[in-house]
Amino acid sequence: MKKNSLLLCLLLALVLSAFSACAARAEAAETDVLSGSLPLLVNKDYPVDESFLPADLVLLTDVLDTSLVRVRNKGIMAVRTAAEALEVMLEAAAKDGVKNWQINTAFRSISEQKNLLENKIKSYRKSNPSWSRSKALSAALRTVAEPGCSEHHLGLAFDITAKGASAFKGTKQCKWLHLHCWDYGFIVRYQQGKEEITGFSAEEWHIRYVGPEHARLIRDNNYCLEEYLASVEPDPDSFLVVGEIEEIGEIPLEDFPVTQ
Ligand SMILES: [Zn+2]
Repeated sequence: MKKNSLLLCLLLALVLSAFSACAARAEAAETDVLSGSLPLLVNKDYPVDESFLPADLVLLTDVLDTSLVRVRNKGIMAVRTAAEALEVMLEAAAKDGVKNWQINTAFRSISEQKNLLENKIKSYRKSNPSWSRSKALSAALRTVAEPGCSEHHLGLAFDITAKGASAFKGTKQCKWLHLHCWDYGFIVRYQQGKEEITGFSAEEWHIRYVGPEHARLIRDNNYCLEEYLASVEPDPDSFLVVGEIEEIGEIPLEDFPVTQ
């Protein structure tokens, strides 16, 4: 009986220490993505690592006025400051008579990004049975970032469209957004003419929170984020969130095309 109690205590101690180690790891992995003096950069050359998790994530439905914007999925989250800035911007848009917005995506975890890429590869191979995995992967990577390289991991980016519209480009919402978002701290992250630098095709719907001060400078100089950061900080390693991806599931790293 005594021996059994001792064993039980030992087991309990082990479980407790494993639990607190897990909790400490989870806490340590959270990053305050707005603490730096410059916006954080995540792209094909500068991925975040597997354990990356932004601090202060909130449900969009808790912050946004859903009479102004439809949140496509109740579970969509973003960093609180960015979500609150989005709410302020959408209220201003409503005052200008521009409503009927829709948020399709905000924060996305690395495992969600893996699934997204895998699904894209599968759908390419389904419609093109002769394609190798590597060919399907190259095609998929033209529109889906590899896990770790999506700006959505930061919790500061939103894919915003017009509710009910089949395409965002040309809508009054798109025109308003591209004219005013800068004053609310957002940038249109992937613009036409900057594809060679950002590594992504133009995306009229993808905005990224950087704060009004940086956003206005980026607008006034017609920079993309990479150009802006290079203009203020010539040594990129001092401002980047740099993480090496050691393992990204099934995808062979050598198959990734070189960033344009
Ligand atoms: Zn996006």
